[in-house]
Amino acid sequence: MKTPAVKLAPSRFPNEISEVEVKRDVSKCINCGTCAKVCPFGVHERKAGYNRISKPLSYLCISTSCEDKPFYCVNHCPRKALSLDINHDYITIGDYRWTRDLIIGTWKQAETGIPLKGRRYEIGNSGGGFDRIFFNFPESDGNREKGIGNKDHNSHAFEDEDISTEIDLNKREGKKLCINVPFYGGGMSFGSVSLSVMLARAKAARAWGTFTCTGEGGYPEELKEYDDNVITQVATGLFGVMEDTIQRVKIVEFKYAQGAKPGLGGHLLGDKVTPEVARMREAVLGSSLFSPFPFHSVYSVEDHKKHVDWIKELNPDAIVSVKVSTPTDVDMVAVGSYYAGANIIHLDGSYGGTGAAPDIAKKNIAMPIEYAIPKVHEFLKEQGVRDDGHRKWWNKNSP
Ligand code: SF4
Ligand code: SF4
Repeated sequence: MKTPAVKLAPSRFPNEISEVEVKRDVSKCINCGTCAKVCPFGVHERKAGYNRISKPLSYLCISTSCEDKPFYCVNHCPRKALSLDINHDYITIGDYRWTRDLIIGTWKQAETGIPLKGRRYEIGNSGGGFDRIFFNFPESDGNREKGIGNKDHNSHAFEDEDISTEIDLNKREGKKLCINVPFYGGGMSFGSVSLSVMLARAKAARAWGTFTCTGEGGYPEELKEYDDNVITQVATGLFGVMEDTIQRVKIVEFKYAQGAKPGLGGHLLGDKVTPEVARMREAVLGSSLFSPFPFHSVYSVEDHKKHVDWIKELNPDAIVSVKVSTPTDVDMVAVGSYYAGANIIHLDGSYGGTGAAPDIAKKNIAMPIEYAIPKVHEFLKEQGVRDDGHRKWWNKNSP
């Protein structure tokens, strides 16, 4: 079969949304052309063969940051025909977290590869987002003496060794694994993102002493040198699942559901199934790929155990992570997974999700993670298996 050429898709919008609209009052304008001469950004233009100045290309305007510049067109117009006004498209986009500046800056950078200078490419209103961690220390006499306490997050009176951001990933018997920071890179599949993005994530995971997950699209060869920091995922579509990879890596993740769209599975648009993606996923070039929901081989804890056993048979040292969304009975799911032999229960709360996740699902189905974690924690404690070794339980209860 002839491999079709990969064509770059044009931008979805002819022009980016600008902050301001450059207005020209045609009843005052005498088409002198001064504005076209002074503006260095090509907003005003007199096309060859035309007497009249064209409609201003507002998306090229650097907006109010031009006001004190010698070339500010509004000051140069002899008829006071020019003005800058807020662009109403601009004020309708964004929200408190994802501000319009952040969206426009990200958009521009995606189109050009160049970050905009200044506030646009920064952090929105997150106050640092995930770049900052606050520690909530229990108040105690000892802590108070050291200057540590809830009321004083920013105190530096404590010693560095008082704090550890490490997390043990496996509290059961078997291989111990620890990450240096309390986060990891969630699954983003090959196809949904490019190889460059996957490599960048793997490099960052190594630098942070944590992991990144491949998602469900397979494990490109180029990630091999990052095996110690990359999780391979087995999802319902089984796209690109290779026993060879499972035998090499430290963590294998089963994805049963995604918090952004529980009950909906996955969808990779046909346009994204390029020759490389099709090869990796063992799929047909250009055809949309669907991951079903649920795993059609798993309808009970026993079925789930067969999955976990399969991985442990292939790689006895592997840490098996089980990613589930957060339905109201997530606590029961977690206990079932514990008895199936999982090492990590990965709770994926609502929110998140990419463009492929329907908006109605993203924020309306699964339980927010803030509720799910205490619910699971309490139930595991109640069942006597929180932080307890499975083997210990098995020895005690087996005939
Ligand atoms: S400088 Fe003013 S009058 Fe001259 S073309 Fe531009 S808008 Fe019209
Ligand atoms: S405000 Fe500045 S950038 Fe915008 S059109 Fe006028 S001269 Fe050009």
